[in-house]
Formats: sequence, structure tokens, C-alpha cells
Amino acid sequence: MSKQYDVIICGAGPAGACAGYEAANAGLRTLIIERRSLPRYKTCGGGVPLTVGNDLPSLVPEAFVEATVTHLRHTWDFADAHLAAINPDPSEPPMSLWMVQRSVFDNALTERAAQAGCEVRDGLAVKSVEPEGDTSVRVTTTNGDIYTASHVIGADGANGVVARMADLRKKRLLAIALEAEIPHEWGTGHETLRPEVAHLEYAVKQGYGWVFPKAGHLSVGAGMFGRRSAEGRGEASKEELTRWILGYLEALGVPRKREEIEFHGYPLPIWGGAEPVGAWNGRILLVGDAAGLVNPLFGDGISYACRSGASAGKTIAVGKAADWSQVLQSEFGASHDASLTIAKFFYQFPGVCYKMGVKSPRGTRTAARLIGGDLSFESVLERLPWKGLMSKAKLTW
Ligand SMILES: Cc1cc2nc3c(=O)[nH]c(=O)nc-3n(C[C@H](O)[C@H](O)[C@H](O)COP(=O)(O)OP(=O)(O)OC[C@H]3O[C@@H](n4cnc5c(N)ncnc54)[C@H](O)[C@@H]3O)c2cc1C
Repeated sequence: MSKQYDVIICGAGPAGACAGYEAANAGLRTLIIERRSLPRYKTCGGGVPLTVGNDLPSLVPEAFVEATVTHLRHTWDFADAHLAAINPDPSEPPMSLWMVQRSVFDNALTERAAQAGCEVRDGLAVKSVEPEGDTSVRVTTTNGDIYTASHVIGADGANGVVARMADLRKKRLLAIALEAEIPHEWGTGHETLRPEVAHLEYAVKQGYGWVFPKAGHLSVGAGMFGRRSAEGRGEASKEELTRWILGYLEALGVPRKREEIEFHGYPLPIWGGAEPVGAWNGRILLVGDAAGLVNPLFGDGISYACRSGASAGKTIAVGKAADWSQVLQSEFGASHDASLTIAKFFYQFPGVCYKMGVKSPRGTRTAARLIGGDLSFESVLERLPWKGLMSKAKLTW
């Protein structure tokens, strides 16, 4: 006989773990099924706004924060460097970015869900989800176990099985990103690498590259966010990004041979506009990357995964699961739409945007405020001097 739950969550990333916490906290019988053994590695830069801490009040930052970034060093084609403080004006509220190791961060979130009463089965993959009668979903795992639940949350990332089985997200906008972890010893007097500085490079075709400081290593990566640069060019894009990463390390004075580096590639499901993210009359809800919530301008998705997961758990608890598409759209739609418009312009005219936007006196502070949710993308779009041009330009993506 199958085991019955109120909520089954597929995936223990930030989206699934936050959904599990909220659902269990509301007294719902909740199960997370994660295909990998926890803690698991996740290809990711691990840069998050400090405001993630507001969403996770019961977690101590020391448990998962490896570095606190207060400065961004921007470059164009590895030159024209611009080092800027996130807090240039001491009279403004201080902000910074946390650098987390995803295996540790995600595991801490999952443990928090378990402490709230959520069951967690790891090392077990969901194979299929199917409607059972009018009010249930049957979940089958790869080892043949069968579970039933009133609601299934698809928190299974970019290539999730839940969206596929529920016939959702068929025209996904997938960007590509590549990343490597480079062991690094701090305090050796390197001229530009410092634990409080994150590096960003913008001459990557329709994307950007990054070097993020971590406790004992650097997270180095590059992503192409435009559909034209990523789609249909899988291997060519990976090769291009690999060359960028090697060039970046060389430019920063920490060169590595290609064969010394283990590269990890992963798709980024970026927001492409509102679409259904719920099915079967509230029995299926997609969250995080599975719902395509990666921000089109910055390519970050962790905070949106946390927030959408938490929101799905609460939405089920108050009996509004059938409205999930509208709930998600009202929470993220306007902001992500504005971000998409800015991103299309930014990645089509990166050189101009680098000079006029990134290097402007308020550029770094504005970026940090946008990432932290302290400033809305809509208000920035409204204020941009080239707004008129944006609506006239034929922006490709
Ligand atoms: C190279 C790269 C760099 C990035 N850098 C950043 C960054 O610096 N900051 C930022 O905010 N975002 C970044 N992102 C995006 C970020 O990683 C994602 O947005 C975030 O992980 C989304 O969380 P999630 O919980 O939705 O999905 P995930 O973290 O992908 O978790 C999904 C989980 O579901 C599990 N799963 C999948 N299928 C099944 C199945 N069938 N059964 C059971 N379990 C399953 C997976 O094993 C996984 O654990 C980056 C992404 C990439 C690729």
C-alpha cells in the first residue's frame, strides 16, 4: 500500500527545502524526495544577497557563509577595471553579498525543514507523477516505491520531471553557464584577489563571467543568458565559456592549464514571461528553477528559489493551491518582466552599458540593491535614460 502525504516535494535544493519547511511548519504531512545523497554538490556561484537571511531567520549565517563581499571589481575584456564599494555612502544602510557553498547552504535548509517535521528521503529519484482520482497524485520513484499526496511541488530544477509529466514549461528559455572551483590560499598578498571582492567581466557574448571568493577557493564561471548565444550551440558555447574562464584566470594572475580544472556546466532556466506553473487543479505546483525563476539580468536564482518555495508551502496551507500560477505571477512577474527588458538591452549593447551603467558612480550600489530586493527592477527601468530607445530597438534574445 502506498504511503499518503499532504505534500510531496521533488528536490531538496533551496526551493524544495523552503517549501518543505513552510508546509511542515503549517502542520501538513510533508515529504521531500531528493535523488542525490545529501549534502550534494550543486554547480553554482553561490552569491546571495544578505536579505536571504531575512527569509531564513532561524539559520545562523556562520553556518553557511564563506565570505562577505563588500566590493565589486568590474572589467571589460579583462581591462578597464572599475573597483567599487557596495556602500560608497556611510549615511546609507549598509549592504553586502554573501558567498555560500551550496552543499552546505542547501543542506542547512533541508535540516531546518526536517526539524520542522518534514520527512526527507535522499538518494531516491522521482520517476513519474500521475493524477490519481480527482484529489490525489501518485508519485513513483526509480526503485518502484509508490507514494500519494494531495499536492506535489516540483522543486526539481532546470530539467525537472514534474514539469515534464504535468505538461508544463514546454517552451523554456534555457541559458548556459559553466563553472569551476579553483583552490586558493588567501593572505598571500595577491594584488587584486581579496576575500571581500567579487570580480565581474562583461565582454562574454550575451552574458558575463565571475570570480567569487570562497573560504579556501575561488568560484570561477561564465554564463551566456541570451537565447541566441546558448541555444543550439551547446558544445560551441561550452568551448567559448571554457576559453573565457581560462582567460579570466590568466588575466587575474592565477593561470591554470585546462586539464587541471574540472568544469561543471548546467542550464539556467531564465524567466521568459508569465506562463502556467500549476496543473491538475492545484495538485501540481512548480517552484524555483523548475518554474523558470532565474533572473534574466543577473542570472541569480537562489533567493527566488527560497521565496517561491516558501510561498508554495504557505499557499497550499491556506488552501489556495489552485491559484498558484497567479500567486507566483503577482509575486515575481512585474519584477522579472522589467528585468528581462533591461537584460535584453544590456546584453545587446554591453559595451555602452558597461561605460554608462556599470561604471557609473551608483552602478555597483544599484546592482546590489536590485539583487537584494531593496530596489525594484520596475523603478530602475522607469528611470533609465535609454528607456525610449529600448522600446524602439529591436531587441533580440
Ligand atoms: C554555473 C551557475 C552559477 C550560478 N550562480 C548563482 C549565484 O551566484 N547566485 C544565485 O542566486 N544563483 C546562481 N545560479 C542559479 C542557482 O544555482 C539556481 O537558481 C538554484 O539552484 C535554484 O534552486 P532550486 O531549488 O530551484 O533548484 P536546484 O538547486 O537545482 O535543486 C533541484 C534539486 O532537485 C533534485 N532533483 C532533480 N530531479 C529529481 C528527481 N527526479 N527526483 C528527486 N530529486 C530530483 C536535484 O538533485 C536537486 O538537488 C547559478 C547557476 C549556475 C548553473
